[in-house]
Amino acid sequence: MEEVVAERSNLDGVRHILLVLSGKGGVGKSTISTELALALRHSGKKVGILDVDLCGPSIPRMFKVQDSDVHQCDAGWVPVFVDQEKSISLMSIGFLLEKPDDAVVWRGPKKNALIKQFVADVAWGELDFLIVDTPPGTSDEHISTVEALRPYKPLGAILVTTPQTVSVGDVRRELTFCKKTGLRVLGIVENMSGFVCPHCSECTNIFSKGGGEELAKHAGVPFLGSVPLDPQLSQSLEEGRDFIQEFPKSSAFPALT
Ligand code: ADP
Repeated sequence: MEEVVAERSNLDGVRHILLVLSGKGGVGKSTISTELALALRHSGKKVGILDVDLCGPSIPRMFKVQDSDVHQCDAGWVPVFVDQEKSISLMSIGFLLEKPDDAVVWRGPKKNALIKQFVADVAWGELDFLIVDTPPGTSDEHISTVEALRPYKPLGAILVTTPQTVSVGDVRRELTFCKKTGLRVLGIVENMSGFVCPHCSECTNIFSKGGGEELAKHAGVPFLGSVPLDPQLSQSLEEGRDFIQEFPKSSAFPALT
């Protein structure tokens, strides 16, 4: 089928679009999206994060800007900037709710309409990367996101899994989704991959280890790294701080950067 190419859009200044996917909630998709944005900022890139996890938006909280409002300009919605240099900008339903903890109880068509609006109406300006943090699984929202973005740019996907077999099985379904929707899989990240004791530095594999790497090998896609469970990482996210800048010696640092 011939693809429709949009004439002028708010995504014209965006060089690359990456979707972050996971089969399950709670495996660290928003964490990886956040840390990836911070790592890219440290290498001098301008990054946007579009949070399409409409029922569980956690991106605003991870940057501690959950009380910010979205404003309108001629080109559409102005995203929320997390720093004065405007090197990271965010758009999330979290900014549109009356209270950040309000529940979104919407049926599919309303969610899909908002996703289309996010894709068309956010004035991102010039970005090196737009990271799209998606809900868990492969739902209607994923299809709407891919369909809305695909006319503008080729799309890359990063898959996040924990090392257990159930989560790895979910990623297998994500891989099928990517194949069917024409997403290029850039690689798999294994998160919560062991716990490094902050006192003795011994690594305990709370779950099994290596499932993500094995799956990547089996699927013929790159393995991007293992991120261990790190209390400093969860605390940084809780407090909206820049983990990569503050803890360059942490065990999670190498894979995140
Ligand atoms: P998802 O987006 O997949 O639902 P989140 O990124 O919100 O998952 O992560 C769930 C929770 O786990 C968050 O509280 C986050 O701080 C924590 N977390 C994720 N990855 C790690 C890690 N490697 N080390 C410590 N805490 C983590």
